[in-house]
Amino acid sequence: MEIELDYSSIEKRLGVTRRTFLKFCTGVAASLGLSSQSAIAMANAIADPKKRPPVIWLHGQECTGPTESLLRSEQPSMEHLILDLISLDYHQTLDAGAGHSVEHIKKQSMLENKGKYLLVIEGAIPIKDKGIYCKIAGETMLDLTLEAAEHAAAIVAFGSCASWGGVQSASPNPTGATGAPQVLKDKTVVTIPGCPPNPANFIGTVLYFVTYGKLPPIDAEGRPKWAYGRLVHENCYRRPHFDAGRFATEFGDDGHKKGYCLYKLGCKGPETYNNCPSLEYNNVGGNVWPIGVGHPCFGCSEKGVGFEKAMFNELSDVKTHTPPNMFPAIEVRESSSGISTGAAALTGVAIGAAVGATAMGARKLDQQEKDQS
Ligand code: SF4
Repeated sequence: MEIELDYSSIEKRLGVTRRTFLKFCTGVAASLGLSSQSAIAMANAIADPKKRPPVIWLHGQECTGPTESLLRSEQPSMEHLILDLISLDYHQTLDAGAGHSVEHIKKQSMLENKGKYLLVIEGAIPIKDKGIYCKIAGETMLDLTLEAAEHAAAIVAFGSCASWGGVQSASPNPTGATGAPQVLKDKTVVTIPGCPPNPANFIGTVLYFVTYGKLPPIDAEGRPKWAYGRLVHENCYRRPHFDAGRFATEFGDDGHKKGYCLYKLGCKGPETYNNCPSLEYNNVGGNVWPIGVGHPCFGCSEKGVGFEKAMFNELSDVKTHTPPNMFPAIEVRESSSGISTGAAALTGVAIGAAVGATAMGARKLDQQEKDQS
């Protein structure tokens, strides 16, 4: 039976106005391809405290980027939503407590909520040498994942690392890092890849679960179809430049300043499924997403495109754009296949910063030209 919505309690609990709350539910329902009736069903589900599923959230090999991205969402404040929408019983980054007491709470919650809790996995799972390369509270991430997955109602792999191994699994992958679907072969794992993943894709998936008691339709990679059904290239605002053959060929060149297509700078938008062009990031508007700020898509949500191909194998092409002497402390060792992987991660960060600085410089120049005209 549909319950009467208590907006005053929702406003208090979630820290958002009634208008923002309903707008949010309608927006999520529309993103999921659902009707306005579904938006009401979602609003009812959120308003019903009994529908808050217990969540066990594990972290493996990663940078906590997915959690960080979730916490930085605004309007409505996603941290309010996530903390009130679900009962977050265990989260290694957000738990105020630590040690044996927290581990006890986790085991207790899994026991009391057998078959009811949502398991969220963030980070890669190393499986080489029985998983000894990532241990939490004396147990391997591999064992913890298998244990938590056994009685979970649903499993979500949040971020590229949890979805297939991410940057940790790039060759030569010394720890045997892999994703949750590869470890939990007999289970359905919904993947929300991205580096970082868009928090709205996670929230939409969880809202679907809370409302309908099941996870949304997924593609062959386990990704929710509503979020990963289209190529970045299909909805990219630079697409008219691609079709007209207008390309940036160097960071900071005339084409780059004019917002031309970034394909010749290595953009992987034509082979990457994600909804970045329509959702963007941080809810701030103003084109805040990689291509929007002048950087090519590197395919972070595609296995075999992002880290393996774009960041490592093709890094030697990108490095020519790094301004000389900008990062003298970083040694770049050449190998037969390009840059050695030991230095590549550091170099990637450096290049990312350099490229970002170059792009920012280009935008500033653009603005200066506008101001002067
Ligand atoms: S910038 Fe990338 S995604 Fe956008 S139109 Fe060009 S190739 Fe396609």
